[in-house]
Amino acid sequence: MLETTLAGSLPKPAWLAEPEKLWAAWRLEGPLLAEGKRDAVLACLKRQEDAGIDIVTDGEQSRHHFVHGFLVGLAGLDFEHQRTIGIRKDRYKAEAPVVTGAVKRTKPVHGDEIRFMRAHTKRQVKFTLPGPMTIVDTLADDHYKNREKLALAFAEALNAEARDLEAGGADVIQFDEPAFNVYPDEVRDWGITALERAAEGLRCKTAVHICYGYGIPANVAWKRTLGSQWRQYEDVFPLLAKSKINQVSLECANSKVPIELLGLLKGKDVLVGAIDVANETAETPEQVAAVIRSAMKHVPAEHLYPCTNCGMAPMEAGLAWRKVEALAKGAAIVRQELGKG
Ligand code: ZN
Repeated sequence: MLETTLAGSLPKPAWLAEPEKLWAAWRLEGPLLAEGKRDAVLACLKRQEDAGIDIVTDGEQSRHHFVHGFLVGLAGLDFEHQRTIGIRKDRYKAEAPVVTGAVKRTKPVHGDEIRFMRAHTKRQVKFTLPGPMTIVDTLADDHYKNREKLALAFAEALNAEARDLEAGGADVIQFDEPAFNVYPDEVRDWGITALERAAEGLRCKTAVHICYGYGIPANVAWKRTLGSQWRQYEDVFPLLAKSKINQVSLECANSKVPIELLGLLKGKDVLVGAIDVANETAETPEQVAAVIRSAMKHVPAEHLYPCTNCGMAPMEAGLAWRKVEALAKGAAIVRQELGKG
């Protein structure tokens, strides 16, 4: 009960990539880079296990960015001539690849990564993929010229990848959809359909992560415009409650999300964000426990999984690991209170 997990990413070691940055440049090349990624995955599995995280991730150590890491493996995209675009309703600029033809997955993208991970931990493993809407929102498109059609093309590719990841040993496959908090109309019109297509036929647990973004300045500034109560989840949760997705990973720590909105996810597992990814101090275990207890008023404990608000890729590594340790300790406090320690 109250098994802990992470939204997904962890900081990469400074010898592998430039620290405290999104889209950080690799510091190794060729075979050294391939071997370095594997070493980084091993180190981060071990540290999660030692901290007491129950459902571990590879920390996204092998990918340049949570969206582009999957896209580089697909045909139909031009990464040579990237274009600067405004993403998440123009909240910030990003260098984006361009869709120039039919999107196709011609071979497994993360197959080696899941097998390596499965071979090196006995814990349950979660593997993350970008969700179809978030992919569409993170690239330029000269071919489909229609976000829904493009999302469904990516959903096909994601589904093929997810089936391979399941066969490779993933216990949970999570689709990251931060864009769901930005485009509620599109979520209703085609976002859930595309997400369910990506997860179709999977027998492992399926999850979707919806958050208010990494702790980067553009997101912190955006959050200041959202008012005293953040109610974006109110649009999306009822739709997800009716969907076939098993788990919803969301942001609760230090956010202005009214906690009672969790009650809209009846029947689903809730990965409750109990670790802030946008501040400079590690939570105390007691602070983590307080978030879990407040979530338990709206979600039965057997459906609750203490988690981080979002990925920690751009965070200072020492801080990130102190937060991971606090997460596991906070969950242990509440388990003890419930007599499940
Ligand atoms: Zn997130």
